[in-house]
Amino acid sequence: MQVFKFGGASVKDAENVKNVASIIANHKKDQLLVVVSATGKSTDKLEEVTRNFVEKTGRAFDLLEQVKASHHDMLTQLFDDVTHPVFNEVANCFVEIEWILEEEPQDSYDYLFDQIVSTGEIVSSKILAAYAAHIGLPVKWVDARDYIFTDNTYREAKVDWEKTEEKISRDLPPILKDYVVISQGFIGSTSENFTTTLGREGSDYSAAIFASCLNATDITIWKDVPGVLNADPKWFDRTELIPELSYTDAIELTYYGATVIHPKTIKPLQNKNIALNVRSFINPTAVGTCIRKLNQGLPIPSFIFKVNQVFINIQPRDFSFILEDNLSHIFNLFHKHRIKINMMHNSAISFSVSIDDTGKNVETLLQELELRYKVNAERGLELITIRYFNQETIDRVLVNKKIIRELKDSYTCQLLVKNL
Ligand code: ASP
Ligand code: MG
Repeated sequence: MQVFKFGGASVKDAENVKNVASIIANHKKDQLLVVVSATGKSTDKLEEVTRNFVEKTGRAFDLLEQVKASHHDMLTQLFDDVTHPVFNEVANCFVEIEWILEEEPQDSYDYLFDQIVSTGEIVSSKILAAYAAHIGLPVKWVDARDYIFTDNTYREAKVDWEKTEEKISRDLPPILKDYVVISQGFIGSTSENFTTTLGREGSDYSAAIFASCLNATDITIWKDVPGVLNADPKWFDRTELIPELSYTDAIELTYYGATVIHPKTIKPLQNKNIALNVRSFINPTAVGTCIRKLNQGLPIPSFIFKVNQVFINIQPRDFSFILEDNLSHIFNLFHKHRIKINMMHNSAISFSVSIDDTGKNVETLLQELELRYKVNAERGLELITIRYFNQETIDRVLVNKKIIRELKDSYTCQLLVKNL
């Protein structure tokens, strides 16, 4: 059996939904489960709804109206018959958000985020399933929250693999015999039946969870790029497609910030030796990239760019060494503020990191660090990671840049730089 994952861009409007349905129709040789994300930028918009609700700006309902309108537009373009039941089903999902918005915001932001934002995936999957059925495909919509069980770490829920595997492997195979199953990425539920989400961009991970629990032969992530490229075309003009990649290389690239696949996706697939294809929904006959077990990866140099970096240098006030107790205190603070370290280096008397400048939480982190250490922060930097680097690739990225910090191991070079 196979798992397909379609991201937000692939279902951003009616034309794209039709395209996804045709890909499903053309590729359905085998048993197939489809995981879909929220349409276009709906997740960002629903996140805005949540923020405005919690901050009581009075704008939450208006923002929700925009999300409702874009989905309604899409439906009117897909279905001539406005009495089709999908119109009501989608409207009812938004009514559930309105019920939340009518109350005072009492629960935590993270909890409310999950209850509100998860609707994006519920409605996109309902629209896709209804349209696929409308063109004659044998589909069944299933609610991922009945299959993917998590703890209650809202916005970053951890999967209860045992319970999830038991349920998926018992209940989905009989349905897959007769139907293409259409479900959602990104969402799960707690043992008390509250909705959770698995972290932003987590739909790839959902696809890997389903694939692992169903022992799929392979999974395909359909994207708006031809496959895994050796750099993001946003930053680089001469990008190359990497036709084959080992699991290890793929994990390394996502770890350093390649956004083509969610970092949590690959490990569960590697454990079960399930191949992961990355292909283009714009050009669905092209082969794309296959990530699988390979003894030697192709050493094509890959470049990962992260802008808007803050370089933080931390030194103990009393000139004691940066020892384990200081380091564990520092790491705890990063963890508490949900800040991921992109590059780190420690010496006898200092510890330095590069992190994304995410605003308020970075400010609070710096204040808390300053209570105990001497802290120096430099903003507006860029972090360039080169996997399979050589001098030529380093020279290529350093034009008009000054190196602030450079780290190298046998395969990977990280350059923290400033524009000249
Ligand atoms: N819709 C969610 C997000 O944008 C999940 C995903 O797209 O993978 O974060
Ligand atoms: Mg998305």
